[in-house]
Amino acid sequence: MEALKQRILEEGIVISDQVLKLDGLLNHQVDPELTMQMGKEFAARFREEGVTRVVTVESSGIPAAFATAYELGVPLVFARRKKTLLADPDALCERVPSFTKGIVTDILISRQYISENDRILFIDDIIANGDAARGVVKIIQRSGAELVGVGIVVEKSFQAGGRAIREQGIRLESLVRIMSLNDGKVTFED
Ligand code: 5GP
Repeated sequence: MEALKQRILEEGIVISDQVLKLDGLLNHQVDPELTMQMGKEFAARFREEGVTRVVTVESSGIPAAFATAYELGVPLVFARRKKTLLADPDALCERVPSFTKGIVTDILISRQYISENDRILFIDDIIANGDAARGVVKIIQRSGAELVGVGIVVEKSFQAGGRAIREQGIRLESLVRIMSLNDGKVTFED
Protein backbone atom coordinates (compact mmCIF):
# COMPACT_ATOMS: atom_id res chain seq x y z
CA MET A 1 0.00 0.00 0.00
CA GLU A 2 1.94 2.98 -1.34
CA ALA A 3 0.14 5.72 0.63
CA LEU A 4 0.97 3.88 3.84
CA LYS A 5 4.64 3.47 2.91
CA GLN A 6 4.81 7.19 2.23
CA ARG A 7 3.29 8.05 5.63
CA ILE A 8 5.66 5.69 7.41
CA LEU A 9 8.62 7.40 5.72
CA GLU A 10 7.23 10.82 6.69
CA GLU A 11 6.14 10.11 10.25
CA GLY A 12 7.92 6.96 11.45
CA ILE A 13 10.79 7.41 13.90
CA VAL A 14 13.39 4.66 14.02
CA ILE A 15 14.09 4.09 17.72
CA SER A 16 16.51 1.19 17.23
CA ASP A 17 17.25 -1.61 14.74
CA GLN A 18 14.20 -3.38 16.24
CA VAL A 19 11.63 -0.68 16.97
CA LEU A 20 9.85 1.89 14.79
CA LYS A 21 7.75 4.55 16.52
CA LEU A 22 4.50 5.03 14.60
CA ASP A 23 2.58 7.28 17.01
CA GLY A 24 1.67 9.67 14.17
CA LEU A 25 -0.48 7.12 12.36
CA LEU A 26 -1.06 3.98 14.47
CA ASN A 27 -0.26 4.22 18.17
CA HIS A 28 -1.31 7.69 19.32
CA GLN A 29 -2.83 9.63 16.42
CA VAL A 30 -5.03 8.17 13.69
CA ASP A 31 -5.68 9.52 10.19
CA PRO A 32 -9.27 8.49 9.44
CA GLU A 33 -8.86 8.66 5.67
CA LEU A 34 -5.71 6.54 5.61
CA THR A 35 -7.27 4.14 8.12
CA MET A 36 -10.39 3.70 5.95
CA GLN A 37 -8.06 2.90 3.03
CA MET A 38 -6.47 0.19 5.18
CA GLY A 39 -9.94 -1.23 5.86
CA LYS A 40 -10.82 -1.22 2.15
CA GLU A 41 -7.58 -3.05 1.33
CA PHE A 42 -8.09 -5.75 3.98
CA ALA A 43 -11.75 -6.12 3.01
CA ALA A 44 -10.81 -6.56 -0.66
CA ARG A 45 -8.27 -9.25 0.20
CA PHE A 46 -10.62 -11.25 2.46
CA ARG A 47 -14.05 -10.50 0.96
CA GLU A 48 -14.54 -14.02 -0.45
CA GLU A 49 -13.94 -15.66 2.94
CA GLY A 50 -17.42 -15.19 4.38
CA VAL A 51 -16.13 -13.30 7.44
CA THR A 52 -18.73 -13.01 10.22
CA ARG A 53 -16.63 -11.06 12.76
CA VAL A 54 -13.41 -9.06 12.79
CA VAL A 55 -11.28 -9.50 15.91
CA THR A 56 -8.44 -7.30 17.17
CA VAL A 57 -6.66 -6.43 20.44
CA GLU A 58 -7.11 -3.13 22.24
CA SER A 59 -6.02 -0.49 21.70
CA SER A 60 -3.88 0.15 18.61
CA GLY A 61 -5.52 -2.55 16.48
CA ILE A 62 -8.96 -1.01 16.83
CA PRO A 63 -8.96 1.72 14.13
CA ALA A 64 -7.81 -0.51 11.24
CA ALA A 65 -9.99 -3.38 12.47
CA PHE A 66 -13.00 -1.05 12.73
CA ALA A 67 -12.43 0.18 9.16
CA THR A 68 -12.21 -3.42 7.94
CA ALA A 69 -15.34 -4.49 9.81
CA TYR A 70 -17.19 -1.48 8.42
CA GLU A 71 -16.19 -2.38 4.86
CA LEU A 72 -17.21 -6.02 5.36
CA GLY A 73 -20.44 -5.07 7.15
CA VAL A 74 -19.73 -7.26 10.20
CA PRO A 75 -19.18 -6.57 13.93
CA LEU A 76 -15.77 -5.80 15.39
CA VAL A 77 -14.75 -7.56 18.62
CA PHE A 78 -11.68 -6.31 20.44
CA ALA A 79 -9.85 -8.53 22.88
CA ARG A 80 -9.45 -6.70 26.17
CA ARG A 81 -6.27 -6.50 28.16
CA LYS A 82 -6.59 -7.18 31.86
CA LYS A 83 -3.73 -6.68 34.30
CA THR A 84 -5.42 -8.70 36.98
CA LEU A 85 -7.78 -11.39 35.91
CA LEU A 86 -11.00 -11.47 37.85
CA ALA A 87 -12.67 -14.82 37.54
CA ASP A 88 -14.90 -14.64 34.48
CA PRO A 89 -16.22 -18.07 33.52
CA ASP A 90 -17.47 -16.62 30.24
CA ALA A 91 -14.09 -15.46 28.93
CA LEU A 92 -11.37 -17.10 26.87
CA CYS A 93 -8.01 -15.86 28.10
CA GLU A 94 -4.35 -16.03 27.05
CA ARG A 95 -1.28 -14.55 28.73
CA VAL A 96 1.01 -12.71 26.29
CA PRO A 97 4.27 -10.80 26.67
CA SER A 98 4.15 -7.24 25.33
CA PHE A 99 6.93 -6.36 22.87
CA THR A 100 6.99 -2.62 23.59
CA LYS A 101 5.94 -2.51 27.24
CA GLY A 102 8.16 -5.32 28.53
CA ILE A 103 5.32 -6.69 30.65
CA VAL A 104 2.96 -9.61 30.46
CA THR A 105 -0.75 -9.01 29.96
CA ASP A 106 -3.80 -11.21 29.89
CA ILE A 107 -5.96 -10.74 26.82
CA LEU A 108 -9.49 -12.00 26.85
CA ILE A 109 -12.59 -12.31 24.71
CA SER A 110 -15.99 -13.17 26.14
CA ARG A 111 -17.59 -16.30 24.69
CA GLN A 112 -20.63 -14.11 24.15
CA TYR A 113 -18.88 -12.45 21.20
CA ILE A 114 -17.16 -15.40 19.54
CA SER A 115 -18.60 -18.83 18.82
CA GLU A 116 -18.05 -21.97 16.76
CA ASN A 117 -20.34 -20.54 14.08
CA ASP A 118 -17.99 -17.63 13.39
CA ARG A 119 -15.54 -17.11 10.54
CA ILE A 120 -13.00 -14.71 12.02
CA LEU A 121 -10.63 -12.24 10.40
CA PHE A 122 -7.99 -11.09 12.90
CA ILE A 123 -6.57 -7.60 12.24
CA ASP A 124 -3.69 -5.98 14.13
CA ASP A 125 -1.43 -2.94 13.83
CA ILE A 126 2.09 -4.38 13.92
CA ILE A 127 3.61 -7.83 14.11
CA ALA A 128 7.07 -8.29 15.61
CA ASN A 129 7.76 -11.58 17.41
CA GLY A 130 4.13 -12.60 17.05
CA ASP A 131 3.30 -13.11 20.73
CA ALA A 132 0.14 -10.99 20.60
CA ALA A 133 -1.02 -12.68 17.40
CA ARG A 134 -0.29 -16.16 18.79
CA GLY A 135 -2.40 -15.37 21.86
CA VAL A 136 -5.36 -14.22 19.78
CA VAL A 137 -5.03 -17.18 17.41
CA LYS A 138 -5.17 -19.53 20.43
CA ILE A 139 -8.29 -17.82 21.76
CA ILE A 140 -10.00 -18.06 18.37
CA GLN A 141 -9.06 -21.74 18.03
CA ARG A 142 -10.30 -22.52 21.55
CA SER A 143 -13.63 -20.81 20.79
CA GLY A 144 -14.21 -23.32 17.99
CA ALA A 145 -14.53 -20.50 15.44
CA GLU A 146 -12.79 -20.70 12.08
CA LEU A 147 -9.86 -18.30 11.63
CA VAL A 148 -9.97 -17.35 7.93
CA GLY A 149 -6.90 -15.13 8.07
CA VAL A 150 -4.79 -12.47 9.71
CA GLY A 151 -4.38 -8.91 8.40
CA ILE A 152 -1.46 -6.85 9.70
CA VAL A 153 -0.89 -3.16 8.93
CA VAL A 154 2.91 -3.26 9.39
CA GLU A 155 4.87 -6.50 9.34
CA LYS A 156 8.48 -6.27 10.49
CA SER A 157 9.60 -9.19 8.37
CA PHE A 158 13.08 -9.27 9.92
CA GLN A 159 11.39 -10.53 13.10
CA ALA A 160 9.87 -14.00 13.26
CA GLY A 161 6.19 -13.37 14.06
CA GLY A 162 4.69 -13.26 10.56
CA ARG A 163 6.67 -16.27 9.40
CA ALA A 164 5.68 -18.30 12.47
CA ILE A 165 1.97 -17.62 11.92
CA ARG A 166 2.24 -18.58 8.21
CA GLU A 167 4.06 -21.77 9.21
CA GLN A 168 0.95 -22.73 11.19
CA GLY A 169 -0.86 -22.78 7.83
CA ILE A 170 -2.67 -19.51 8.57
CA ARG A 171 -3.09 -16.97 5.78
CA LEU A 172 -1.40 -13.73 6.88
CA GLU A 173 -1.57 -10.60 4.73
CA SER A 174 0.28 -7.41 5.58
CA LEU A 175 -0.17 -3.99 4.01
CA VAL A 176 3.54 -3.17 4.21
CA ARG A 177 6.54 -5.32 5.05
CA ILE A 178 9.61 -3.74 6.60
CA MET A 179 12.75 -5.77 6.02
CA SER A 180 15.15 -3.58 8.01
CA LEU A 181 15.44 -0.64 10.39
CA ASN A 182 19.23 -0.67 10.24
CA ASP A 183 21.21 2.59 10.23
CA GLY A 184 18.17 4.60 11.31
CA LYS A 185 16.46 3.90 7.98
CA VAL A 186 13.18 2.17 7.09
CA THR A 187 13.67 -0.31 4.24
CA PHE A 188 10.56 -1.93 2.75
CA GLU A 189 10.38 -5.26 0.95
CA ASP A 190 9.69 -5.16 -2.81
P1 5GP B 1 4.61 -8.96 18.98
O1 5GP B 1 3.67 -9.58 19.96
O2 5GP B 1 4.33 -9.40 17.55
O3 5GP B 1 6.05 -9.17 19.34
O4 5GP B 1 4.38 -7.39 19.06
C1 5GP B 1 3.16 -6.88 18.63
C2 5GP B 1 2.72 -5.64 19.32
O5 5GP B 1 3.80 -4.90 19.88
C3 5GP B 1 2.05 -4.73 18.30
O6 5GP B 1 0.66 -4.84 18.42
C4 5GP B 1 2.57 -3.36 18.59
O7 5GP B 1 1.62 -2.64 19.32
C5 5GP B 1 3.81 -3.58 19.41
N1 5GP B 1 5.03 -3.40 18.58
C6 5GP B 1 5.91 -4.36 18.22
N2 5GP B 1 6.94 -3.84 17.53
C7 5GP B 1 6.69 -2.50 17.43
C8 5GP B 1 7.38 -1.42 16.81
O8 5GP B 1 8.46 -1.53 16.19
N3 5GP B 1 6.79 -0.19 16.91
C9 5GP B 1 5.61 -0.01 17.56
N4 5GP B 1 5.12 1.25 17.58
N5 5GP B 1 4.94 -1.00 18.16
C10 5GP B 1 5.47 -2.24 18.11
